[in-house]
Amino acid sequence: MRAGRHFLQIPGPTNTPDRVLRAMHRAVIDHRGPEFAELGLSLLDDLKTVFKTRNRVVIYPASGTGAWEAALVNVLAPGDKVLMYETGQFATLWKNMAAKLGFDPVFMQGDWRTGANADAIGAQLVADSRHQIKAVCVVHNDTATGITSDIAAVRAAIDAASHPALLMVDTISSLGSIDFQTDAWGVDVVVAGSQKGLMLPPGLSFNAISDKAWAACKAGGDRRSYWDWRDMAGPNEKGFFPYTPATTLLYGLREALDMLAEEGLEAVFSRHARHANSTRLAVETWGLEILAVNAEERSNSLTAVLMPDNKGADHLRAEILDSFDMSLGTGLNKVADRVFRIGHLGDFNDLMLMGTLCGVEMGLMRAGVAHKKGGAQAAMEYLAEHIS
Ligand code: PLP
Repeated sequence: MRAGRHFLQIPGPTNTPDRVLRAMHRAVIDHRGPEFAELGLSLLDDLKTVFKTRNRVVIYPASGTGAWEAALVNVLAPGDKVLMYETGQFATLWKNMAAKLGFDPVFMQGDWRTGANADAIGAQLVADSRHQIKAVCVVHNDTATGITSDIAAVRAAIDAASHPALLMVDTISSLGSIDFQTDAWGVDVVVAGSQKGLMLPPGLSFNAISDKAWAACKAGGDRRSYWDWRDMAGPNEKGFFPYTPATTLLYGLREALDMLAEEGLEAVFSRHARHANSTRLAVETWGLEILAVNAEERSNSLTAVLMPDNKGADHLRAEILDSFDMSLGTGLNKVADRVFRIGHLGDFNDLMLMGTLCGVEMGLMRAGVAHKKGGAQAAMEYLAEHIS
């Protein structure tokens, strides 16, 4: 027994608000009945606001990985080339999936410290004079590295190259936390998940689909069944799904969308920016290094922090979990044990952030990690001086 609430400060799943938990505490209804139809229609419509799109959004009872697969198999034919950019572990996993499915990913090497380089992407597209590349895939916010890439710049590079490739973007750890403008940025397929900015438990994922991507789906694509957008269209028009939906999670989604609307999307983004600024200030005051080197690419939903000697992050996290009952994100793949990640997204406020940063600072002391004192204090002063 540990008294008080566990601090879940991994970069997703995030803390599920009580309102969402209560909304899900209901009996399941007939998913082919009129009450469900009303729920389904309202969700499919209101999701468009969060994605900033006028086009269709589909919902899968699946984790984010499912929506990755759906994006690929609906528009790409077997063997199609797809340009992907290494921003961290999640970009790497999406690329591995594309290869496993029999597509031909061209993986542009990154250094895990900087975002997708739009100029380099543009150069690859210009060189592809036969237009063999069918899609460009970028992770907007790579959760492994805490790096946010400039999607509008990637769109501009595709347009400047006059290349017809579709633009597909993973927003799993940015949607509902960091501004994302599907239509204004000309994104053809968006991939999203329930368990981060949308404040739900894991288990739902989404694709937003442009007219161009929809046409590609109808004209081609790979063999698919469960993920087929075409099977969604008819039932979705009436608020239904082609198979049994995750009704309970959809109750939660209804509540989460209401909460985002009540706070206002732009206010949600500013709250995340303010918490990210305070966290970065704390890290800099401790004298530790943020993995993302470019200030403008530092994520507003999480901060990945490098350990002073490039090791010991797992020991630090274990110490913090043991002593203060707080979970921080682990370093993945190339940065395993070198990095710990502070999640500051979702249903989160100033005092939760202060608890988090105090927990990190106390953990640094207990684990004997060389650092300067006063990071939490600096964040506290920033928050007090910047009340929105
Ligand atoms: N993409 C990003 C950016 C993620 O952060 C994650 C999971 O954390 C995924 C994809 C995979 O999603 P899931 O684990 O829900 O399948």
